[in-house]
Amino acid sequence: MSDQTLDIIFAMPHPDDVEITCGGTVAKLVSQGHRVGILHMTNGEPTPRGTLETRMRELHEAAEILGVAHVEVLPLTNRELMDCPETRYAVATVFRRHRPRIVVSMVGRTPAASPDHYQGQLIVEAARFCSQLTKWDDRFDGTEPHRIDWLWYRPVVISAEHGQWHSTFVVDVSDVHEQKLAAISAYRSQFDEARLEKVLHRVRSIDGAEGTRCGFKYGELFALPHPWPVEDPAKHFLGIQASASMSYPPRSG
Ligand SMILES: [Zn+2]
Repeated sequence: MSDQTLDIIFAMPHPDDVEITCGGTVAKLVSQGHRVGILHMTNGEPTPRGTLETRMRELHEAAEILGVAHVEVLPLTNRELMDCPETRYAVATVFRRHRPRIVVSMVGRTPAASPDHYQGQLIVEAARFCSQLTKWDDRFDGTEPHRIDWLWYRPVVISAEHGQWHSTFVVDVSDVHEQKLAAISAYRSQFDEARLEKVLHRVRSIDGAEGTRCGFKYGELFALPHPWPVEDPAKHFLGIQASASMSYPPRSG
């Protein structure tokens, strides 16, 4: 394993997308010993209150709070992010260089927010496919082909398709939830005190609701682009702790 190798890469358009949507899962995977990377496809600027310098400082601070092994910012254009061959190759080159087994994308159209989010999904899906292509190394900065085992979707609550995803699973992030909130709070240029309070309230509410569905205090819901593959159903489900089974009111202990 080269020191560039990562187990999992979370790839989303803007700095703060990963932290807000699934920073708990990032922190949890890190705490379980996995090498996790965050790929911000753009630097997120311009925004009303940010500068390039502050955004870079904030995203590194957030990455440090979550404990990731690698954070990277691609020079793709915020507000103009589009799925096209060049953006696919740029993201695929990162995948080929770091050779993750899992890549994670946000999923769904966000008509009341940036259209970059949906384009980011299309780019990650295509980049995962491109990552394995042979005889095209020149398009990927001379990197070797790499097949990625898994694509995880992180459905966005505000997406037009919310609730329509199949093959979902919920990660228990109760133990690392404060870490997630701290990482989001690192983006001070985006969230002044009043806005931060609203964002953290919303994150607690969403994660509380998603966690509740599987008996966790806080959870983050993911989906697969295909049915959940299970080879040994009894072992698979009986191996899951009873406290994680759906129960209401929550079980004690
Ligand atoms: Zn965003």
